Amino acid sequence: MAGEVEGLRIVLLGAPGSGKGTQALRLGARLGVPAISTGEMLRAAVTAGTDLGHRVGSVMAAGALVDDALMADVVSHRLEQADARRGFLLDGYPRTISQAGTLEEMLDEQARSLDAVMLLSVPEEQLVARTLGRRRDDDRADVVRERLRVYHDKTEPLADYYRERGLLREIDGSQPMDHVSAALLSALGLAWVEA
Ligand code: ADP
Repeated sequence: MAGEVEGLRIVLLGAPGSGKGTQALRLGARLGVPAISTGEMLRAAVTAGTDLGHRVGSVMAAGALVDDALMADVVSHRLEQADARRGFLLDGYPRTISQAGTLEEMLDEQARSLDAVMLLSVPEEQLVARTLGRRRDDDRADVVRERLRVYHDKTEPLADYYRERGLLREIDGSQPMDHVSAALLSALGLAWVEA
């Protein structure tokens, strides 16, 4: 729309327990764009007992990935909503190289593109400790290990994918929460202001 202020389009990458959900909410509020968490959307669908929820419940409980076509559906509908037209922070999508390609196609259709991809790096021991402390259904020790395995196998390659495209910014996610927020903003050329 003419005159509309453009927000940023950002993807947050990080392992389970890296803190990207928390940072997505903080950064979204600071940037005035919605933080879109595919994990939260799917968990809400499971809780509400919708069709989607029935299809993804057991996959999530096993720590596996929901299939790419279904995720493409979920994400494309969400990105078409009014609040996401001028910018967004994506948390949990893309999670595979194939999903990254799909996201690029979705944005192409709107004549848009990503501004940055932020990778939150956290040492493995810290990831396990943080995730086990959350006590969510998919945070049992065996499921956590499986989610970390899937992350290394399927999602970590996205760092190189986006690095090659000049979009990747790597942030030390092991620091205290406010430092991580500040580092994320400074990587975007902005300053952190306490609310
Ligand atoms: P975390 O950040 O702790 O890894 P999320 O809350 O992002 O977990 O996601 C929880 C679960 O939802 C995943 O383990 C997976 O089963 C499913 N999920 C979320 N996003 C995607 C995606 N983009 N592709 C496939 N599955 C997904």
